[in-house]
Amino acid sequence: MKSDNRQACVGLISAVIAGGAGVAAAQPATLLGFTPAGSAAERALEGRFDANLSADSIRDRMKLMAAEPNQVGSPHDKANAEYTLAQFKAWGWDAHIETFNVLYPTPKSELLELLGPTPYVASFNEPPVPGDATTYRQAGGLPAWAVYGGDGDVTAPLVYVNYGMPADYAVLRRLGVSVKGKIVIARYGGGWRGLKPKLADEHGAIGCIIYSDPADDGFATADPYPKGPARPEHGVQRGSVSDWPTETGDPLTPGYGSVNGAPRIPVSGAKTIMHIPAVPIAWGEAIHFLAPLGGPVAPKSWRGALPITYHVGGDGPRARLAIQANWDQKTAYDVIAVMKGVTQPDAWVVRGNHRDGWVFGAQDPLAGQTALMEEAKSLGALARTGWRPGRTLVYASWDGEEPALLGSTEWAETHAQELQSKAVVYINSDTNDRGFLFVEASYSLRGLVDQAAADVVDPETSVSVRDRALARLQVAATEPGAGPEIRGLAAEAQRSGALPVGDLGSGSDYTPFVQHLGIASIDLGFGGEGQSGGVYHSAYDTFEHFARFGDPGFVYGVVLAKTTGRLVLRAADAELLPFRFDNLAKTVAVEVDELKMLVASRREHAKMVDRLLDANAFALASDPTTLSGPPERESPPPELDFSDLDMAVERLRTSARAYDEAMAAPVGADRAQRANLILQGLEQALTHPDGLPGRPWYRHLIYAPGMLTGYGAKTLPGVREAIESGAWDQARDFINRTAQVLNAASEKIDAATRALSG
Ligand SMILES: [Zn+2]
Repeated sequence: MKSDNRQACVGLISAVIAGGAGVAAAQPATLLGFTPAGSAAERALEGRFDANLSADSIRDRMKLMAAEPNQVGSPHDKANAEYTLAQFKAWGWDAHIETFNVLYPTPKSELLELLGPTPYVASFNEPPVPGDATTYRQAGGLPAWAVYGGDGDVTAPLVYVNYGMPADYAVLRRLGVSVKGKIVIARYGGGWRGLKPKLADEHGAIGCIIYSDPADDGFATADPYPKGPARPEHGVQRGSVSDWPTETGDPLTPGYGSVNGAPRIPVSGAKTIMHIPAVPIAWGEAIHFLAPLGGPVAPKSWRGALPITYHVGGDGPRARLAIQANWDQKTAYDVIAVMKGVTQPDAWVVRGNHRDGWVFGAQDPLAGQTALMEEAKSLGALARTGWRPGRTLVYASWDGEEPALLGSTEWAETHAQELQSKAVVYINSDTNDRGFLFVEASYSLRGLVDQAAADVVDPETSVSVRDRALARLQVAATEPGAGPEIRGLAAEAQRSGALPVGDLGSGSDYTPFVQHLGIASIDLGFGGEGQSGGVYHSAYDTFEHFARFGDPGFVYGVVLAKTTGRLVLRAADAELLPFRFDNLAKTVAVEVDELKMLVASRREHAKMVDRLLDANAFALASDPTTLSGPPERESPPPELDFSDLDMAVERLRTSARAYDEAMAAPVGADRAQRANLILQGLEQALTHPDGLPGRPWYRHLIYAPGMLTGYGAKTLPGVREAIESGAWDQARDFINRTAQVLNAASEKIDAATRALSG
């Protein structure tokens, strides 16, 4: 998983930037948490770590691991787990396989056909392409498949719903088109895949087809594969449609590990499984269903790149969608490798990447997985020279990420207590290809990330990967169409000289660690130049495609290993854990201001809609010969009292300042160690045991995947989503709870400051 955000950034930059952009601050000689002498020794160690990394070995490993379909339950997935285990052992790690039995439905039968005057039966297969030997080895792979969709056999007229997101349903309402009792056809994009059947169901639809429009990742973007990288006519994006923003992991063991003997809830009681059948198809299939649609012509922003007039449908020919799954459990194989720390064995640095793909999974996930293995190889070589990490390293090769973060979630749930007492950080990667560094991280870890990125050289430009990411942001902010968000980020980066770091939403294995257990986390990868988006989750995400279009020469695999290796080594060896809290205080302050503005703008918008409705303006502004009704009136927000949150932010600012001053002074090992014991669980203070509204599994009150975005993060989600949905009591409640968790964090920061000051 994890590709949409990075792919969405493709195309922001039109020119390769050579040389520094002149915005980055000079790299300080002292690393966060190290003494000056310790910093020099650490950098020397990192030089030795780098020297063991090899692009050839990453290439060979990917070729082997991507040779056959490797989805959950496939023979090659198990073989890859055994191969990974053997490699870790050969490199000197204490490694084992931990298994979980997880619900993983696979297709028993799938049918999609158009009835009426131009009948058509859809194909769910992706034909092999000349020049790519891997695409001829699909035996045992899955056809087009939406895992965790419902069983069903439904026949009804089709309605085209654009991306199938909430705003699209508001447009449909104004067009006078209902999806009640119909089958919707949505294009990919606009939000989490699983929201499409979920929202369709909530609006009364009985089936959901999802297709890849060539405007988004096909021939309108580049030459299709094999000539170019883009999604070919029959390329399908498989994927999960589980209700991921509600919880992740095995739907039958919510909140606890799906080990042998654990109780299972019935499939009918699982919160994250869809009620209606869903299927993904290629544009070469979708065109047969979209072309004959009647009803109104689709609004301009809904039209893709197919050579048809896009209609909304609703009264056209009927389609039949019949899906039946084998509701079987499969074994998920996590490979867990440990290298014990010498000074603090009970403090863990956890590093993970998933290993399962949708078919061959070269870019997603093996580009990240093979880099993780290269790090482990190099760390093993360092260990053979007598070096040992200060804290314990735990390397994980997760299974079952694609369906629902199964391997990571079940492992995190099984070991929750131990992780909450021992894990200092979780570091994740997933997809990777040529281009720019993308990072999302807990606010307290941004200083660590910034320093690590400043020490890794970008192979295309010879500046640091940090300076390159900064330059990209600065240039993107000047381009036509740059939104306020990117301009704001660029201005902030200009001011601070720090690497732009995003908020943790979801879409990869960090979610159970940060959002469920409250373990400070980092997610990173490279991309933006590699062109893997068009084969995302298809049978064309192969070694051959990746070697041509993803990361030719496998150089960015090495760059990822260098960057992540620094994060791992510094987190493991720092005398004082490399957390800082100024960023937390500053960022939360900005977010509270955003919430206040959100309330004000909702109030203004509701007033404006009232004014226009009172003046009959919507009717006067529309063409009376086409159907387009007025929007609904909105309920204006009441006064919300943010003072608890304002006070909590002020207190956090004071605590963060005091801590940063204390950590800047030399402290000595004893004091540092006393502070470490407080620091390593500090992120947990930002969680609340009751979690977020309607989704108690998500306990972090500062960042979460949006209920209606899926991948994208919502900050201060309890309050923000309450304001967005007009749930005012809930907004008041979560203003209070969010203030409570911030105060709890301030208390811990103060305790760490006292420990440092002696
Ligand atoms: Zn992935």
